Order: sequence, then C-alpha cells, then structure tokens
Amino acid sequence: MGSSSVLEERVQSVTPWDVVTERFDEVAPLISLPDSLKKSLLVPYREVSVEVPVTMDDGRLEVYMGFRVQHNGARGPMKGGIRYHQSADRKEVRALAALMSLKTALVDIPFGGAKGGVTVDPTQLSHRELERLTRRFVSRISIVLGPYRDIPAPDVGTNPGIMAWVLDEYGRKNGYTPAVVTGKPVSLGGSLGRVEATGRGTVHVLREAAQAAGIEVRGSTSVIQGFGNVGYHAAKFLDEYGSKVIAVSDVAGAIHCEDGLDIHALSQHVKTTGSVVGFSGADAIDGDTLLHVPCDFLVPAALGGVVQGKEAASKIQAKMVVEGANDPLDPDADAALAEAGTIVVPDILANAGGVVVSYLEWSQNLQQFRWAADQVNTELGKVLSRAFDDVHAFAQEHSVGYRKAAYAIAIQRLAQAETQRGAQ
Ligand code: NAD
Repeated sequence: MGSSSVLEERVQSVTPWDVVTERFDEVAPLISLPDSLKKSLLVPYREVSVEVPVTMDDGRLEVYMGFRVQHNGARGPMKGGIRYHQSADRKEVRALAALMSLKTALVDIPFGGAKGGVTVDPTQLSHRELERLTRRFVSRISIVLGPYRDIPAPDVGTNPGIMAWVLDEYGRKNGYTPAVVTGKPVSLGGSLGRVEATGRGTVHVLREAAQAAGIEVRGSTSVIQGFGNVGYHAAKFLDEYGSKVIAVSDVAGAIHCEDGLDIHALSQHVKTTGSVVGFSGADAIDGDTLLHVPCDFLVPAALGGVVQGKEAASKIQAKMVVEGANDPLDPDADAALAEAGTIVVPDILANAGGVVVSYLEWSQNLQQFRWAADQVNTELGKVLSRAFDDVHAFAQEHSVGYRKAAYAIAIQRLAQAETQRGAQ
C-alpha cells in the first residue's frame, strides 16, 4: 500500500540514531552536561551482532541478521524489547536501546536500556520457522542476557508467545529463570496487565497532559496510526474514556468515520480479516492522510520516522500528539509543532507503560509471587503520574516542551548514576 512505502522511504532518510544524537545535543546545554559525559552516555556499553541461520519448512537454509544493543546499565539491569521487522538494523536497534535507557530513567525504575532486533518480515514465516528463528537468535545472544544483566520483552513483530520461546531457550542452558524475559504469557509467569500496559499507559499520560492543557477527553476526537498491541489498546482505552476514535490505520491501509469507530467491532474485524481495511461503516483513506485528519489527539502507534521535517509536521491538525510509537517525529517536526502550538507528549513518557509493567513482572518473578491486576494497574498509574508531574514541572520551570523536559530529566539521572559509580 501507499502508506507503507512512503513510511519506508522516510525511515531511511533520517536515521533514528541521528535523531537521538541531535536530541542529546539539544538538551546538553540545558542541564550543563559536560561533553565527555555526553559522549559516554550516548555511546552504547555493548553491541552484539549475530548470524541467525534458520532451516525453513521446505528444507532451505535462510540466514538472518540479529542484534542486541546494551545501551546503559548504570541504573540497573538493561531492559528492552526484541523487534522482528525487515527494516530493523544495528543503527535502529542502537537508537531504540538509547531510548530505553532514557525511558527507564525518566519513569525512575531500576533498569538501564537495551534493545534487540532481527532483520526479518515475521509475516512471511510459518509458526515453526518463527520458533526456530527465535530459539537460534536467543541461543546466540544468551551469553549477554540474564535477570540481573539484560531482560528482553516484546516489541514490533513479537508477542507473548515468542517470549515463551525466549524463556524456554534461555532455560535450556541456565535452568528455570522466569525473570530473564518479560511480556511472557501469564501462565508462564507473565504479569496480569502486561499485554495492555503500553496502550493503557499511553492513555493515562494523554489524560494527564490533556488535563494540564485544559482539554476534555470525554467528547474529544482521536486518530491512531497502527492497530497492533499499542494502537489497539490505546483505541480501546480512549473509547472507554469517552473519546471518539475517528480514524485508525495499519500496514494495509487506513479507515475514517467521523461519528467514531466501534472499537470492539473493529477488533473482531481485524481478528477475522487481519486488517482494519474493509471495516463496514468507515471510509477508506490514504495512510498519510490519516496523520492530517483534524482531531484533538493524534496517537502514532506504528513505526518510527513517520513525520519528518517541518512541511510534513505542518499538515498535522491535532491539538496534541501522543507518541505511542518510539521515535515517530524528528526534531524538525517537533520544532514545527511547537511553533503551531501543538503539544507533543514524547515516546519516553507516553509509551513507558510497557516497561513499567515489565518491571512489575520482573519483581513478581524474583519474589515468586503474583499480583492482582488491580494492584498492577494502580502501581502503573502511580509511576506514570509521578513521571508526568516531573516532566510538566521541568517544562514549566525552563519554558521548554515536554520532549526536552523528559530528555533533560532522564539524562540527568543517567549522568548522576554514572558519576556516582565513579571513574572507569
Ligand atoms: P505491533 O507489531 O503489535 O503493531 C504494529 C502496528 O503498526 C500494526 O498494526 C501494523 O500493521 C502497523 N503498521 C506497520 N507499518 C505501518 C504503516 N506503514 N502505516 C500504518 N501502520 C503500520 O507493534 P506494537 O507493539 O504495537 O508497537 C508499536 C510501536 O510502539 C513501536 O514503535 C514500538 O516500538 C512501540 N512500543 C511498543 C511497546 C509494547 O509494549 N508493545 C512498548 C513501547 C513502545
């Protein structure tokens, strides 16, 4: 479809690593970060690249490339998802690992940041091929994993079922170690509330930001790009809080209905057909047009790099952009939106719900204990509200947007941990 090819082109024009580097540079003077410390905080601790040979169902041998980047471990074991996507490469994974260090620091949980990826289109593999790919990838990176070292989780193209294989493969060599991976099925030690945690957190932070800006969520309109784990749950919770979700998209196309989409019926349609496309009562629109639909809240929840440059950003007509996805806007887009008075709630705050509940899952695993769903959701809300308050206060005090405030707080915490640990 048109939407995906435009997105792929954009993803390649400015790399996610360029964006993270530029944002570090922007924020460094605001917090008087010395150059040497900036460099050491930006450069990853360790990068592992592995070859992942997989015997396909027809007997052929396919070779994929896999990566695990451990960005920073000063504040605790490194934490971050595993992505299966054809565009996942070392630079993208490196940038996403840096975002994880910032995210865990911002929400103040005792983790560092990491990310993994395999350059593969998982939709082209059978169930058994995916299992073989996962086991081979984990066996090749298991040397750097561990419950006090580096703890993977799901991301784009992966899910709790794949995390079950991660758990099993790691356990073959190391024995039963549930805390080595989060986002597992609940029956294997996963936490209640983990599957929906990122979308729930996105909407929690959206509501906090809306309240601060004086925008009512009930009766508002929302547009969501991506209808996977984050996008679907964001849509579900927005709908529950009384916002009309008027447009959504996925890789196959986009749909629009000014009266609001029935999210429950839409999710049934997606389960049956595999896509939002063709949902009755909605008009088909172009994937790019979706980003320009007038609304109160625009939630990009697909891939990074979807809005690059001032021109692209100037077409956005939302009052607030809440980044469910990692890295959807570049710094030029941020600048254009700030000029237009559009509030941007950055990824490291808006999609931190997943890693917060991953932390709660890890804690439950280490204690061999299970929390009730209410307890998990209450704790998630507390952590995110505290992080939002920190970001809002910093933004007010320094007259900057939420992105710079969030980066500044997170980088300060990383710098403090590195400095307190002493000279290397
Ligand atoms: P997912 O694989 O479950 O869903 C991705 C969705 O995006 C799918 O609906 C897919 O069709 C859609 N998509 C892909 N290309 C698209 C395009 N060109 N146009 C429109 N839609 C497109 O992934 P997810 O877990 O929901 O992750 C989405 C984003 O959220 C990613 O940026 C990810 O890094 C971020 N994130 C996820 C989590 C989590 O817990 N899953 C946590 C934090 C951040």
